[in-house]
Amino acid sequence: MTQEDLFKKLIAHSKEYGFIFQSSEIYDGLSAVYDYGQLGAELKNNIKKYWWEAMVRLNDNIVGIDSAIFMHPRIWEASGHVGAFNDPLIDNKDSKKRYRADVLLEEHIAKIEDKIEKEVEKGRKKFADSFDETKFRETNPNVIRNQNKIAEITHRMNGALNSNDLDALKQLILDCEIVCPISGTRNWTDVRQFNLMFSLQMGSTAESANTIYLRPETAQGIFVNFLNVQKTGRMKIPFGIAQIGKAFRNEIVARQFIFRMREFEQMEMQFFVRPGEELKWFAKWKENRMKWHKSLGVGDDNYRFHDHEKLAHYANAATDIEFNFPFGFKEVEGIHSRTDFDLGSHQKYSGKKLQYFDSETGESYVPYVIETSIGVDRMMLLILSSSYHEERLSDDEQRIVLHIPPVLAPVKLAVLPLLKKDGLPEKAREILNSLKCDFYCQYDEKDSIGKRYRRQDAIGTPFCITVDHQTLDDNTVTVRHRDTMEQQRVDISKIYEIINEQVSFKKIFEKLI
Ligand code: ATP
Repeated sequence: MTQEDLFKKLIAHSKEYGFIFQSSEIYDGLSAVYDYGQLGAELKNNIKKYWWEAMVRLNDNIVGIDSAIFMHPRIWEASGHVGAFNDPLIDNKDSKKRYRADVLLEEHIAKIEDKIEKEVEKGRKKFADSFDETKFRETNPNVIRNQNKIAEITHRMNGALNSNDLDALKQLILDCEIVCPISGTRNWTDVRQFNLMFSLQMGSTAESANTIYLRPETAQGIFVNFLNVQKTGRMKIPFGIAQIGKAFRNEIVARQFIFRMREFEQMEMQFFVRPGEELKWFAKWKENRMKWHKSLGVGDDNYRFHDHEKLAHYANAATDIEFNFPFGFKEVEGIHSRTDFDLGSHQKYSGKKLQYFDSETGESYVPYVIETSIGVDRMMLLILSSSYHEERLSDDEQRIVLHIPPVLAPVKLAVLPLLKKDGLPEKAREILNSLKCDFYCQYDEKDSIGKRYRRQDAIGTPFCITVDHQTLDDNTVTVRHRDTMEQQRVDISKIYEIINEQVSFKKIFEKLI
């Protein structure tokens, strides 16, 4: 199955089983906005719980807040969003389609990277066992030529973006001979800047109304509460403030399902440190966050760092954690060393001192900040896309299974009476009732047991508990494991332990401390 097919199937599967629906579907949908269904909401909550508890519970110097979405409009001037939260857009005059200029160039670079990989594969086949990949990459003329091309395009693109030179960006698109994927032509408009913030009117009458913005990130709610939290929580530097909440961006090109939405959710943590110590903490948070990801066990090779060459004007280091999505390696989380830019700027705009008195050094200063910022929805897509598998069981039977890490699985166990009679449903309900305070359970008595197992596989339930006639005699049940399909006969009193061992965060958290 190609990655493209896999992605299409995943989208259909997410809808069919109640994970993700198009928003306003009965009105033909609203572009790049999605609703989470009954299982999607559970999975999302579990992801948020994993993040929140790993941040707030495991670190005694990190606390969590929940700030409002609406904020004073001056905040967005201070943060630089009013002036500079723009994407460079370009239209194709023939297809009338709109693109992000930097994305067109990045896709062009990705195509050249593909060519390099194909060349390397050719070399691998040709030289078989004696193939030395590093040497091949360093000496093959085609590879070298394409690498140089990438370096040149990247250099020109970063230069143009950094200096906000929109003409240079357009010239680069023309020089790379990039065509519109729809019309196939190079008939481009000039590149223009487009602000990504949604604005709205607050106030009851037109005269008194103020223009405010839907927040494009949750971080600013943390910065403006920095002193409130520091003082009331008696926090000592280094310390962090975490927050989970909705953010809104009027994305120009919204696509790839829930990867890029106009309304989405972020989990952000700002870590306040002494000036001069920020790069040490940046390295520490890079390591911590990668560990958090890899602890879920969805394959270490699927992650990589992408260190930024082009830094935002306020940052002195930045990296993305990228994941191997069905459409390639893409950002799931950003880690940024934001210096004292945000607090310093709010101090200037608000006229209020945002300083910290360090009793160890006897100095007052504006702290430096390391930010970790991850999208809940991208994390959902990461989990769904890495867990979706079609497995052939025999010649005429296949199963679709979501190998969701048990700690995140929406439903932890299903209780299934083998038959709908002979007291088996009653016994099954009794077992269900004894477990439902601890785990999210489902009860299912319809169809054959095989069909019921398939239904649970398709939603990623790690355990099925089957109640049969023997259960009535000796109080034992069958525990069926999702991943191995193994069945284990155990006493009812053992079910809790078997399930808890797999679905509790405890084991993972112990590794993260
Ligand atoms: P991208 O380069 O993909 O646009 P970004 O660098 O603008 O992302 P940040 O501003 O660093 O993203 O936001 C932090 C995180 O928020 C991202 O890593 C991503 O997981 C999530 N995120 C950002 N924009 C969106 C969006 N439109 N839809 C879903 N998640 C998003």
